[in-house]
Amino acid sequence: MTANESDKSWSVVIDREVCMGSGLCITYAPGTFEHDDEARAVLRTPTTDTLDEVRSAVEACPTGAIQLITQEGESSNEA
Ligand code: SF4
Repeated sequence: MTANESDKSWSVVIDREVCMGSGLCITYAPGTFEHDDEARAVLRTPTTDTLDEVRSAVEACPTGAIQLITQEGESSNEA
């Protein structure tokens, strides 16, 4: 299933103070994350990745900067 603004049942929050610009989230979910001018992650709008792809990106983040919020509750990879 492709996530879009009409059927999206999850959201993502990026802590830019914690992001160290590794780019792994962009590798795993390039339709959701991109770098800004400071090489820190920001969300694309609209996002085009599946929840599984976004979850992989969250799990890959080395600093735990991404928080995934789903209908079942929140999850993150906080170190
Ligand atoms: S994977 Fe984490 S640390 Fe790397 S760019 Fe994305 S949010 Fe930042």
